[in-house]
Amino acid sequence: MHFNILTIFPEMFPGTLGGGVVGRAMNNGVWSYDAINIRDFAHDNYGSVDDEQFGGGVGQVMRPDVLGDAIDSIKNRGKIIYFSPRGPRLTQKMVREFAANKDANYTLVCGRYEGIDERIIEEYDIMELSIGDYILSGGEIAAQVFIDSVVRVMDNVLGGGADATANESFEIGGLEWPLYTRPSAWRGRNVPEVLLSGHHGNIERWRKQQSDEITKQRRPDLIKENEK
Ligand code: SAH
Repeated sequence: MHFNILTIFPEMFPGTLGGGVVGRAMNNGVWSYDAINIRDFAHDNYGSVDDEQFGGGVGQVMRPDVLGDAIDSIKNRGKIIYFSPRGPRLTQKMVREFAANKDANYTLVCGRYEGIDERIIEEYDIMELSIGDYILSGGEIAAQVFIDSVVRVMDNVLGGGADATANESFEIGGLEWPLYTRPSAWRGRNVPEVLLSGHHGNIERWRKQQSDEITKQRRPDLIKENEK
């Protein structure tokens, strides 16, 4: 999988993506990226990428001519995604779909200022994608969230095979059950007996019941989602 990242801050990559299992996957060739500096395509000597809004109002907008040239410079663009609060919110189901083709290319546009000129979105038939209902100062963190979540569900990225991702929150139709490890007793708190019993049927039932309970309490919307 390859990501072309369009940004005015290429030095922000790989950032968090250089560590942990996703960083290891990069070193193993599972994925690669190019961080392309939009400023390199500026039409003036100052490296201007933004200008004031037509119609007035505070905040600058990224120019379509500069961004368009930056996009045109990419050979294998694949699907083009612009991170934006206006897009559908990224879900684990969408993450799975993006991860399905291990040879896919994605071009990720990181906005800054107030965002990008609307004509760019039309011209390149760009998909908008949000990572949540809040406003970031730029799309770079969103791009890292996207790459991290997509790469970690790809084959051979996590130890433990398919099981490692299949049993997680959202994948199981709700939120995860409580997790415990050694020591079995800590500051007077004991690990639930059933988990030490070795009885797989009981353990599975307990986890399912805990997961259902936690989901009902914290995220009833997920239950409704599954009933659709
Ligand atoms: N004026 C815009 C917000 C601009 S924030 C609005 O009101 O919708 C600047 C940039 O940060 C955006 O262009 C986008 O690329 C990124 N960004 C901000 N919040 C985001 C979110 N929730 N999800 C994805 N990207 C986001």
